[in-house]
Amino acid sequence: GSAKEAEIALEEGADGIGLFRTEFLFMGASDTGEEAQFNEYRTVLELMKDKPVVIRTLDAGGDKIINDKNLPSAGEKNPLLGRRAIRLCLAETELFKTQLRALLRSSVYGNLKIMLPLLTDISELHRTQKLIEEVKAELSASAVPFNKDVPLGLMIETPAAALTADTLANEAAFFSIGSNDLTQYTLCVDRENELVAPLFDELHPAVRRLIVSTVRAAHERGIPVSVCGEMAANGANMLLLMSMGIKSFSVSPKKISDLKEVLSRFTLGQIESLKEWADSPEEGRLIKEKLQSFF
Ligand code: PEP
Ligand code: MG
Repeated sequence: GSAKEAEIALEEGADGIGLFRTEFLFMGASDTGEEAQFNEYRTVLELMKDKPVVIRTLDAGGDKIINDKNLPSAGEKNPLLGRRAIRLCLAETELFKTQLRALLRSSVYGNLKIMLPLLTDISELHRTQKLIEEVKAELSASAVPFNKDVPLGLMIETPAAALTADTLANEAAFFSIGSNDLTQYTLCVDRENELVAPLFDELHPAVRRLIVSTVRAAHERGIPVSVCGEMAANGANMLLLMSMGIKSFSVSPKKISDLKEVLSRFTLGQIESLKEWADSPEEGRLIKEKLQSFF
């Protein structure tokens, strides 16, 4: 969420940054203009040198309420199903283009990848691609340098995206599975509501099956797929995700060494044996028990 956190990630032995949440820049910051954003992105990219840095475009709204004068607050009755994330950016194109311009300008300072949150429809990718082309044309006209080939990837964190992953994979450079929102939207469980917290189950067969089919779609089209939701921060769950064919995980920096230690305890063959639980119809709690005893 910040250049400071990127420093911690490096100290903790990260191979890159799998999810840079840009909304934190907007929370409480007095200046969220193009220069301020550019400086932050550039700092992170320079710090990480040639390691990949996946920066997610603004994921505001829903559970991430941002009080920024540039962001209209619609007072929605049901913000989790409202104009949040990519929907907000596509509705506020000047705000979005400012961020895209800052990102593209920073791209010459490191190994940048751009990622879009909360897609439900391929038209959102197409509209973003069009805006990126506009920004590139503007930068070229002003002779501002940028990397012309910054990969554009997608978060798969809605059932709609997971179920159409085969189509999305034709045009996305990579996928990153957001297990937090994927679980929330698949199971209709508000991830912040304590009353329904016991129902929030990343191992529910519906969630596992959506992950398995997303990975299959990515592999069939030959694009990388990782997981950046909290699910991967749990050692046993990470092993299950590996058995599904996922080899790249993004977790908070402080979890990195614990997870490396977990990995050092198992052979690939042992991890692959978990595959039979990947999309089995068994209840989440049973899979959890099995994973615990394997662990
Ligand atoms: C997710 O939804 O899994 C995710 C990584 O994004 P966020 O937690 O920021 O919504
Ligand atoms: Mg999310």
